[in-house]
Amino acid sequence: MDYSALLIQIANQLYFLNQKGIKYLNIKALPGLEVKSVINGLEEIISKENVISSEPRENITTKKLQKYKENIEELPEIDLITEKSVKVDKNSIHNLKQKNINHNFDQTTNLEDSQIKSVSLSKILEKYRSCQNCALGVTRKKLVFGSGLSNPPVIFIGEGPGADEDVQGEPFVGRAGKLLTKMISAIGIERDDVYITNIVKCRPPGNRNPTPAEISCCLPIIKQQIEILNPKLIVTLGNIPTKTFIPDAPGITKARGKMKQYEKWKIIPTFHPSYLLRNRTAMPLAWDDFKMIMEFTFKITQS
Ligand code: SF4
Repeated sequence: MDYSALLIQIANQLYFLNQKGIKYLNIKALPGLEVKSVINGLEEIISKENVISSEPRENITTKKLQKYKENIEELPEIDLITEKSVKVDKNSIHNLKQKNINHNFDQTTNLEDSQIKSVSLSKILEKYRSCQNCALGVTRKKLVFGSGLSNPPVIFIGEGPGADEDVQGEPFVGRAGKLLTKMISAIGIERDDVYITNIVKCRPPGNRNPTPAEISCCLPIIKQQIEILNPKLIVTLGNIPTKTFIPDAPGITKARGKMKQYEKWKIIPTFHPSYLLRNRTAMPLAWDDFKMIMEFTFKITQS
């Protein structure tokens, strides 16, 4: 009998049961001599598990950051940064990540505030779930509203859903979405700790750009989302979301990496991940933008 493996297994089961609201087990009911011999170990695990169960929910994100601390060498693999032409300063990312680890996200995880925002977002979603205000409503499979933390430090905004998103009803789940998730992770923020959405909520057929009329029809939704989410920073992905909020912005190649203001929110434009998949040489510039996003986010959330 591998007792250490058994103890880990039991600890996992206790944690699972605790998550389901079951806090105590009848130890005497456990059958068999072999199991009986680990009862002392089990008692230790119960007390450790009770510590976990009494931990306030606000510390969950801190735990995630602690996980990064423990796995500091495990920088996520980004497919595109293995290119010879793409020289990424991993030490720089590593250092930024360490700064990130030391930050406490507690101020962004106010549960009550988060729940109120969540309800407000749900109401907007219900209002627009069957929206036919523009032609995109006719051809969509699912409306892609947005996903993530309802009290996020950063929101990422693309132009519109693609084919995978249209089927799943979730933003950025295709190839470009996977790249975006990896890039967010590489700067030490988990995808669940930000909010991700698009300017238009329904897929433009054939992945064409949404027309100005479609953008204008859909604009009230993203404006309400921003108002409710009230992020510290908005990251626009590509030309369309950037020009939606900053009409006089130059093309994304010039606009990227430069802080702008939209009403009371700061904006950093960067490339759309689909563009990065097609133009690998732009990846180092995108990394510069992501490092800027991280430094800004953690500077303002620490103040
Ligand atoms: S894209 Fe926006 S405005 Fe057009 S149908 Fe979808 S939700 Fe409505």
